[in-house]
Amino acid sequence: MRQANIGTHSRTADNDILPIDWNRGRIPLKSRGWIYAAAIMFVLSACANGPPLQSGPPTHSPQMENAADTGKESSGEPAPTGESVREPLISSVPKASVPAKIAYLTFDDGPSLNTEHILGILNTFGVKATFFVIGNGSEQGRNLYRKITDSGHAIGNHTFSHDYSTVYKSVASFKRDVEKLNTLLEQTTGKRPELLRFPGGSNNHQARKHGGSRIMSDIAAAISEEGYVYFDWNVSSTDAASKMQKREDIVESVRQGAQGKQTIIVLMHDSAGKTTTVEALPDIIRLLQEQGYRFQVLSKDSMAVRFLQP
Ligand SMILES: [Zn+2]
Repeated sequence: MRQANIGTHSRTADNDILPIDWNRGRIPLKSRGWIYAAAIMFVLSACANGPPLQSGPPTHSPQMENAADTGKESSGEPAPTGESVREPLISSVPKASVPAKIAYLTFDDGPSLNTEHILGILNTFGVKATFFVIGNGSEQGRNLYRKITDSGHAIGNHTFSHDYSTVYKSVASFKRDVEKLNTLLEQTTGKRPELLRFPGGSNNHQARKHGGSRIMSDIAAAISEEGYVYFDWNVSSTDAASKMQKREDIVESVRQGAQGKQTIIVLMHDSAGKTTTVEALPDIIRLLQEQGYRFQVLSKDSMAVRFLQP
């Protein structure tokens, strides 16, 4: 009777709760009780310890979360120890702390027919550059000013006349020349450039010959006061070193000049006659791309390379 009761009870229980295999009687009833108990203990233990995932290595460290929330930059701090080191740190660090290599290609003394060719090459590579132009009121000149800005490149003022004896005669003379070009550019493109490059750079002997020993620092101070930002360069393509510099020498000068530099302002010329600069440009772009540089246009906020401080 007792056995029958137990058996009835067990069968009912088995039929309602247990998987089919259990009905085949392979495991004695006595053992089933222990297995139930063990299963319950396992579940209780798991609940007390929290979800099983948390017992493994953390997938997201608290340090990273704090950095992301506050936007604080973690460089300069000692590296976190232990499990958090396994985090892919690079993905959590703000972009500003991993400086990109930036190349600013600059072309002086245009526009000319070569400007047209250069714009075509830049367009093919999808690269933007900065043109420090001089005065050219012809129809072709005006069209090229427009084409430069319409293509997303930057224009800077390189004085209207680019004549050393005129622009460096005095501060007033320099300002007049700059203003004359900016008026032409505003009429043509609708914008007045605030970027400027001195003919010959900010530290040139010609200027002192025409305007005295203080002329460059006086002009630099005066134009900075008016809101202009001037740029020199830290990589020369040497395309102005001779009347017709060899294409290979231009490429090699840029390669050597860029070595070890994170940000480069490359000096080139798009004036008439500088055809080897046009020929060298595709190689220069490929070379710098292979070295990891990204190309940008100069703006007032760009790193300013200056031989002479205002
Ligand atoms: Zn120039």
